[in-house]
Amino acid sequence: MEIKKGIAVSPGIAISKPFIIDSKDYRIPRRSIAPTQVDEQIKRIDDAFSAAEEELTSFGREQEMVEESIRDIFAVHLSFLRDESFKKQVITFIKDDLVTAEYAVSTILREAAAKLAAVEDSYISERAADIYDIEKRLLTQLLGKITRDVDQLSEEVVIIAHDLTPTQTASLNRTFVKGFATDSGGRTSHTAIVARCLAIPAVVALEDITSTITSESTVIIDGNRGVVIIDPDEDALVQYERYARDFNRLEIKLKALSDKPAITRDGVEIELLGNIEFPGEAHLAVENGAGGIGLYRSEFLYLYSGSEPTEEDHYEAYSETVRNFKDQPIVIRTMDLGGDKLPHVKRSEAEGNPVLGLKSIRYCLQNLTLFKTQLRAILRASVLGDVRIMFPMITNLQELRQAKMILRDVMEDLDEYAVPYNASIPIGAMIETPSAALMASLLAKDCDFFSVGTNDLIQYTLAVDRANERVSSLYSVADPAVLRLLRGVIHDAHKAKIALSVCGEVAGDPEYIMLLLGMGVRSLSLAPPMIPEIKQIIRSVTIEECNQLARKIATMDSQRQIKNYVRDAAIKILPEAF
Ligand code: PEP
Ligand code: MG
Repeated sequence: MEIKKGIAVSPGIAISKPFIIDSKDYRIPRRSIAPTQVDEQIKRIDDAFSAAEEELTSFGREQEMVEESIRDIFAVHLSFLRDESFKKQVITFIKDDLVTAEYAVSTILREAAAKLAAVEDSYISERAADIYDIEKRLLTQLLGKITRDVDQLSEEVVIIAHDLTPTQTASLNRTFVKGFATDSGGRTSHTAIVARCLAIPAVVALEDITSTITSESTVIIDGNRGVVIIDPDEDALVQYERYARDFNRLEIKLKALSDKPAITRDGVEIELLGNIEFPGEAHLAVENGAGGIGLYRSEFLYLYSGSEPTEEDHYEAYSETVRNFKDQPIVIRTMDLGGDKLPHVKRSEAEGNPVLGLKSIRYCLQNLTLFKTQLRAILRASVLGDVRIMFPMITNLQELRQAKMILRDVMEDLDEYAVPYNASIPIGAMIETPSAALMASLLAKDCDFFSVGTNDLIQYTLAVDRANERVSSLYSVADPAVLRLLRGVIHDAHKAKIALSVCGEVAGDPEYIMLLLGMGVRSLSLAPPMIPEIKQIIRSVTIEECNQLARKIATMDSQRQIKNYVRDAAIKILPEAF
């Protein structure tokens, strides 16, 4: 039995066999196979060599126009793949050492590359790059097949991967995928957010989980405590089966609150809205008692399909969502592309520092056709219900004004064709950069509401990548600098008499609810499966208790002290959740 500690990102317990997805971009771990699996691995090698050969041959045919020197390189790669001696070495390694096909390919080809690289003649040593290229090509075949197999699961598994993209996570088959664990990631990476919204138990930032697990292992994923247990002993299994039952019971108990109001013991009503990525999640928000959608991450439409959505694609997605909520608010955030949410078609334009690059509203302002297409669809949907529009990653007043100006342009276009829309559609700005937080009093004059994106606000204030497990201990809303900015934004919104909601992951974190209420927040937007638990906390406290807690926190100067204090207070309120 081995216990690994990571970051808990989506609650729940899963106990199952693993489905391991390696990545060609990271070292392939040594994984043993049983003697009975040798033939299957050899077949995989044969298939991978043939497919890679076929790929290169057809590439050569298509690239008739390409320069001869490039064609020569592919010819060398092709002759290498056809060289039976290499394939033989790989197969012998599998047979003798009982290892997986991908490990054998990676090891034999890397050894060959290293030998070449050590030769003094630069013409020969530079050929090492070709061998690495062939290794990647073969691994793409071997691992690509595995990735495709995830779509065809027929038994329950937990996914073990170096990392998953948000789109891969969103595509996981909920019937068979009971949980996942990854080497990398952070609590507010979009992969984690999607897992939470879909209620898939998950633990990330385990560093080397992919190299520790074999396909024969039994794995427990504890998404409440951030723990993964490999090959649990009998005691651990019994204990976790009990935890799983307790968790299910708590969920059922909390679900019963879904039609009760989120009202504190002293009678203050708190608005609880859902965060969604796809219209298909809207029913989850309804079932969990959301009073509308406070954050519709519309960029997932783009990410999921891998191509630019048409106006009709947008319109259908929004109208389907509105149908679930009738007169309740639906806040559609315009596409927040970039960072860890890059459409694959744009990978070639990768930036050195994507989270500080052409991202989010900046991207839309430079891609007006894409932006206007979405705005038209949102405006058309605005007559169907209480649709609101929100611009992400605003960093200055000009950006907000420019976005509004484009919205007005689109309104004029619609006027020309007599297309109906809500001319006074509420317009909001996300406050998720320190500059926006500092300028909130000015921004408040130019919009109808704020939504505080604490996920990015923490990242940009503390200069900590939200998806990087190596610095995850530095990433916390409990940092006094973040809390100071948050206090300022809440104050400025109240003063300007505009609505404010918090839509970052902190809104669904039981430990921080009392603090947020005590700081004056009255609207939260969160992953739908978390709503019942947060509602229970709200129904168990008074605003006076929350105010007292917030006052106490304001006197503290360290992240650790604040974290411990809010946690202790939350445990007293809802011990079962911890
Ligand atoms: C945020 O940054 O807090 C937010 C809600 O937006 P996202 O997580 O999609 O960046
Ligand atoms: Mg954000």
